[in-house]
Amino acid sequence: MHGACFQALPFPEFDQDLYVGATVVRPGQDPYARNKFNQVESDKLRMDRAVPDTRNDHCRHKQWKSDLPASSVVITFHNEARSALLRTVVSVLKKSPPHLVKEIILVDDYSDNPEDGALLGKIEKVRVLRNDRREGLMRSRVRGAEAATAPVLTFLDSHCECNDHWLEPLLERVAEDKTRVVSPIIDVINMDNFQYVGASADLKGGFDWNLVFKWDYMTVDQRRARQGNPIAPIKTPMIAGGLFVMDKEYFEQLGKYDMMMDVWGGENLEISFRVWQCGGSLEIIPCSRVGHVFRKQHPYTFPGGSGTVFASIQSRLEMKKRLGCKPFKWYLENVYSELRVPDHQDIAFGALQQGGNCLDTLGHFADGVVGVYECHNAGGNQEWALTKDKSVKHMDLCLTVVDRTAGSLIKLQGCRENDSRQKWEQIESNSKLRHVGSNLCLDSRSARMGGLTVEVCSPSLNQQWKFTLNLQS
Ligand code: UDP
Ligand code: MN
Repeated sequence: MHGACFQALPFPEFDQDLYVGATVVRPGQDPYARNKFNQVESDKLRMDRAVPDTRNDHCRHKQWKSDLPASSVVITFHNEARSALLRTVVSVLKKSPPHLVKEIILVDDYSDNPEDGALLGKIEKVRVLRNDRREGLMRSRVRGAEAATAPVLTFLDSHCECNDHWLEPLLERVAEDKTRVVSPIIDVINMDNFQYVGASADLKGGFDWNLVFKWDYMTVDQRRARQGNPIAPIKTPMIAGGLFVMDKEYFEQLGKYDMMMDVWGGENLEISFRVWQCGGSLEIIPCSRVGHVFRKQHPYTFPGGSGTVFASIQSRLEMKKRLGCKPFKWYLENVYSELRVPDHQDIAFGALQQGGNCLDTLGHFADGVVGVYECHNAGGNQEWALTKDKSVKHMDLCLTVVDRTAGSLIKLQGCRENDSRQKWEQIESNSKLRHVGSNLCLDSRSARMGGLTVEVCSPSLNQQWKFTLNLQS
């Protein structure tokens, strides 16, 4: 073993006050400065605080198999708040049947203070590995996985809290079929007050065409189909990435992570595509709940800049060929058919955003007006494309200028080729939409009184529109 201490202090005997007390936020210091969450609130909590059982009632009566394979829990961290890291470790020990957690491997990704990790090595089952330079979360996780001695890997972020019986339902799915890669429902630990809040059980993981992970609400049909069995596993196109369980051999067979990825990000998309395309599946298991502190900024640096995290993927492509993986097109058609794919006719695509509001059909059809609504990032009535033939399109409805005078309402009408009333172009660095025939601009000033209109182009914020994705440079 590598620089690891392996002692066996039962977690209740660990001196939390001594450990956390050494790094408290001093009076006058910003509690968000170091972690981008409120460290003062985190530090106030006991390491084994109670959290609400957020599971569906059906889960409470379920019996989990007891002869499940044990797991190695791998937690990588860089400059994590001690209180948050400790609570993660303690919640694993407190909320798991002991025989199912073989070890907790902490990979200290070159944190400023080596003691943050080293001191936790006293706790039962905890092994600490420390990188001698910043490796980023992918290489750190792979290092942890390679050191693991149990047949199943469990990855967690360093600011999580496991909930009641979180582990058994995950292990059960993997024990039955090692090509399943499974995630809990990720509950929300509020970054300001550290309240533990249950998350919706009706979400799946997805992504947008900026390749940013997002949660998709299940469709009405999907939700209806689940009414009879609300705790059935949820097939998901994508995992959030921080928290999941995977058979160790399968992780290796499938190529672990791309070792040329640096720091943070994208690895969840990459592993999700790879699992699905190469014969496995991804699931969210509703009876497993783990809290995670979601925050808005990274607390750490991206050495060399965030642009340098991209590298050649040649060897990964070769590997996927060797594994006989299916093409991405198969994934789009079979795994994430809800995702609208920009086609070669599109110049811009996605939501058409104005601040926090988005252009919305409001559920209207032909001859209806359009409006704005708070952006929900779920496609649907807020999904638009600007095409090469200059139409602004939602399905087969196009934004139509029925009357070419300033102040007139825009209507949705069936798209027609060569109809000058439906021709638009982006102007001023793609910040506005101008109707070609009238030279008037798409404007939201009357959104609350009737609908969107065309108006004389001006610097008004009511005329600023931005597509999620612009495909022309
Ligand atoms: N992390 C790491 N090295 C890095 C960046 C991140 O070990 O260079 C760890 C980090 O401490 C956390 C996990 O990777 O435990 C995921 O990062 P983060 O929580 O910032 O990602 P998010 O949950 O915001 O997507
Ligand atoms: Mn995180």
